[in-house]
Amino acid sequence: MADFYQLLGVARTATADELKKAYRRKARELHPDANPGDTAREAEFKEVARAYETLSDPDARARYDRFGEEGAGAQGPGFGGGGGLGDLFDAFFGGNGSPFGGGGGRGGPSGPPRGQDLEAVADLTFEQAVFGATVPVTLRTAASCTDCNGTGAGGGTQPVTCSECNGRGQVQRVRQSLLGQMMTTSPCSRCSGTGQVIVTPCPTCSGDGRIITDKTYQVDVPAGVDTGSTLRLTGRGAVGPRGGASGDLYVHIRAAAHERYRREDNDLVTELPVSIAQASLGTRFTLETLDGDEELEVPAGTQPGREFILRGRGVPRLQGRGRGDLRVRTRVEVPTKLTDNEAELLRLFAEGRGEHVEAHEKGLFSRIKSAFS
Ligand code: ZN
Repeated sequence: MADFYQLLGVARTATADELKKAYRRKARELHPDANPGDTAREAEFKEVARAYETLSDPDARARYDRFGEEGAGAQGPGFGGGGGLGDLFDAFFGGNGSPFGGGGGRGGPSGPPRGQDLEAVADLTFEQAVFGATVPVTLRTAASCTDCNGTGAGGGTQPVTCSECNGRGQVQRVRQSLLGQMMTTSPCSRCSGTGQVIVTPCPTCSGDGRIITDKTYQVDVPAGVDTGSTLRLTGRGAVGPRGGASGDLYVHIRAAAHERYRREDNDLVTELPVSIAQASLGTRFTLETLDGDEELEVPAGTQPGREFILRGRGVPRLQGRGRGDLRVRTRVEVPTKLTDNEAELLRLFAEGRGEHVEAHEKGLFSRIKSAFS
């Protein structure tokens, strides 16, 4: 914790008047209204306010001088009442409980609250994630009550203007405070700041204006999404009470795996098994791609792991142009079972190249096998 005197920028011998002046100067400089969104200054502002609260009280100041902050009992947000800092916060923040996230507090009725944001999962096939799709997503949500059109007022009545605040949603009071005369504004308690009250609640929704129901949306999923992608559907969340705006719906994508293809960023990767003879002599394949059949030529002398790249046949780039590539990797397969004839041909092949191979039936593995039989 910073020293209270340092926070206010005064000497330890400062008089009450000097403290007050220093505090006013600091408060104006650091005030959140003067620095919207600056959380560092906001934090400092609170610190300074706390420092002044302690040092402006002669007893608390004496305890602070002797024992430090703990001794002064100044911790916590409990500002002294009666024309002190409590009023300051009311004045600056509309007194709506949440100091800095006001939310439409000032200058008029806040209206009914916005509905909740909701989350759902869309399960896609591999191909749907690659190429995009329209898929149904069902979720439990709050929908507007049809009996009262979402107003919450029953029996054909309408919500009426709140008589306490005359529909403004706020009540104002003038108070004396440290910084002079302050106009404090707080939400009207009778209508919760909405400016309207329901006299006869709708029996279907008990005046809430909403009912809980299952809803199915057809969600347009763009090409190129993958597991971990999230789509935001503005206004498709739960509807707010009494005609409040809807929240948003977040749809999390879960894409299935493919038996032959996998994704590496925007590329599609697959393995192509080729035999020793095919790799050595070359061959031609018909490859089943996600876009249809593709002729692929494997030239003579192809090595294991060689990659053939089909440009632009991969995954479409999400929020971008073009597609990744399709990469076909060869996997040269060594036969594990040979007929006598095949073995003989391979042996001839090895002999011709001067390569040593184990003789038939005396190979290492057949000896191990015979040891176990
Ligand atoms: Zn209703």
